[in-house]
Amino acid sequence: MSNSLYFKQVEIGPMSNFVYLVGSTETRKVAVIDAAWDIEGILRLAAADGMEITHALVTHTHPDHVGSWLHGAHIEGVEELLGKVKAKVVVHKAEAEFLKSLSPSDIIRSDSGDKINVGGIEIQLIHTPGHTPGSQCFLVGGFSPGQPDRLIAGDTLFIGSCGRVDLPGSSAEEMYHSLTQKLMQLSDDTILFPGHNYAAEMTSTIGAQKKSNPYLQFHSLNAFLAAMGYA
Ligand SMILES: [Zn+2]
Repeated sequence: MSNSLYFKQVEIGPMSNFVYLVGSTETRKVAVIDAAWDIEGILRLAAADGMEITHALVTHTHPDHVGSWLHGAHIEGVEELLGKVKAKVVVHKAEAEFLKSLSPSDIIRSDSGDKINVGGIEIQLIHTPGHTPGSQCFLVGGFSPGQPDRLIAGDTLFIGSCGRVDLPGSSAEEMYHSLTQKLMQLSDDTILFPGHNYAAEMTSTIGAQKKSNPYLQFHSLNAFLAAMGYA
């Protein structure tokens, strides 16, 4: 893969959400991850860098990750985005139904292992249910040695914590499997980019989280469930 990664992490909105722009400095195409809160601001950011938005990737469909408030009326942020740019919305198939306002032809219903090519940069999709049934993380990697992979983890894995599992559609058991069988299997130097700015740092690594994140210290599902108050 060409080593022309364009990558931006931007905090946005009153709930400390992180929006990400991931694309190629060569082809100048970019995906916006979790387009919400301030679509105009996101568009200005991309335009200022001469980047064309071709994809809107959705980690999950909670309103703080896909919502926007235009003239006081709540609509989908991704819908507002599509009104301004020609992009495909990538949402896990388990949650596509929640983006009611989009036409089916605007949506790519993704599944685990799918790869999205954004102007030559490959983004791998990892289904990580638990916080929501269709939560997915995005792995950007395959670069030259010494340039670690990057994981955009939505509300599945935070720095020092994990996403809530007490909401409608949540599952503590699925969260445990997503954390241990998927995210903890990634290489230790993978850089973690969470869905919210909840910690003192804006990024961490999978290796550092394996050591210090209290939610990654359980060696059995039952111990995890007990700690989460479910057993
Ligand atoms: Zn959420």
